[in-house]
Amino acid sequence: MENYNKIWDEIKNELENDLDEVVFADIFDPVNTVFKVVNNYIYIVAPNDFVKKRIEMLYLQKLDRYLEFKFEDVHKFRIMTEEQANRELSDSKEFSITNSEPDLKSKYLQGNLNASYNFDSFVVGNSNRLAYTSAIKVADQPGVVANPLYIFGDVGLGKTHLMQCVGNYILEGDMNKKVLYVKTDQFVEEYVRSASKKKFDEFSLKYRDVDVLLIDDIQFLAKKEKSQIEFFKLFETLHGTQKQIVITSDRSASELKDIMSRLTSRFEWGVTVDINRPDLDHRIKILKKKLMAETSDSSMIPNEVIEYIASVFDNNVRELEGALKRVLFYCTAFNLDFNVKNAELALESLVKPRSNDKFLNENKIKNVLSLVSDYYRISTIDLISKKRTTKYVFPRQVAMYLIKTIYDLPYKKIGTYFNNRDHSTVMHSVEKITNEIEMDRNVKNDVEKLKVKCGEN
Ligand code: ADP
Ligand code: MG
Repeated sequence: MENYNKIWDEIKNELENDLDEVVFADIFDPVNTVFKVVNNYIYIVAPNDFVKKRIEMLYLQKLDRYLEFKFEDVHKFRIMTEEQANRELSDSKEFSITNSEPDLKSKYLQGNLNASYNFDSFVVGNSNRLAYTSAIKVADQPGVVANPLYIFGDVGLGKTHLMQCVGNYILEGDMNKKVLYVKTDQFVEEYVRSASKKKFDEFSLKYRDVDVLLIDDIQFLAKKEKSQIEFFKLFETLHGTQKQIVITSDRSASELKDIMSRLTSRFEWGVTVDINRPDLDHRIKILKKKLMAETSDSSMIPNEVIEYIASVFDNNVRELEGALKRVLFYCTAFNLDFNVKNAELALESLVKPRSNDKFLNENKIKNVLSLVSDYYRISTIDLISKKRTTKYVFPRQVAMYLIKTIYDLPYKKIGTYFNNRDHSTVMHSVEKITNEIEMDRNVKNDVEKLKVKCGEN
């Protein structure tokens, strides 16, 4: 709480420099302290409804931005009137300043969720319905219906968003619940840094003291044996005491590589759900939702523009969102009408390589396959076969890499050219070659030569 008062003082200073003197004196000068910090919100008190509304209409975003950029804090501000604050104080001790002050231990547990990742803002469609309904059930009865909840899918499809919905929902119901969101690489790093006993005790307490653990991108535990053992123990403790665990990953538990099987098998103890790529209708719905969050008047963007963006960006939701933002920015910055032509212009550099998808003929892929097999002196049949000798595996991975980087086809689609390999195999191959290009000059040269032959570069 003290911390937040300090932050508020600093923000006030900024505002004083930023704003007109009279405006500042009118609006912010009277706001002296933070009233309470609950879940993801910092509540400050305005003297009356009029000032409250002015702050909300004109300055709230600015305040949140200060918090985010200056203090790297994910809380958001909310405004109450003095009357409301007084009523809360007299109504319920529960909400009084002292009681809502988080104790030291739980301080870090609050507010490491992104408040905008809630069930309201998560758009449901065929590709994520099961994941969504499972997440709601878990949020409703943490620790009971599905433990752990294991969500997997390609990048940018909403895994982190959905996992945080669970946390936000639980906190909304009970602000005293200790919900901890952590990225797996952060977990590993903290564990590695906790070498001394004192540090380790702190680390251990932090993780064992939670009611809900949200651990994101578990695939990054690969090859980190010691962290795996530590996570295994943590899992046992939390699971054994019915504390909810939610895990996300880029692949199913059984496809996780270099993670001990006693751990991956436990990931399947609860419920496993996947998230796939959204279809066109779903993408349109997502864009409309994002648009409402971005602008006050979403009707200024015609449907055709939305449909255009949705039809071109079919790969992942993050790109889809990025494309929308770009169009909004471009048309606003250059004062252009929101129409399909201008959207095309705004997205030109992003769309060109992708628009190949639509016109891509199978011959181009066959061409890549035959160039690669010639280069490595193997037959195309062997190249696309399931034979596992290095002689074939490596060229196969290179071919997958080339198709992905040149034509940016979905992993699943690429798999169909290789005897219906599943998407994770293709993904893994592309990752592997990407790494090898970094590490091995010969591989880099080979791939570059092949790219030239394929007509790229
Ligand atoms: P992942 O963790 O799977 O890589 P994220 O959860 O980070 O993906 O999602 C990427 C972006 O797409 C986020 O901004 C998220 O809000 C948005 N997003 C993904 N799926 C949805 C959805 N179903 N509804 C609304 N937004 C979504
Ligand atoms: Mg994520």
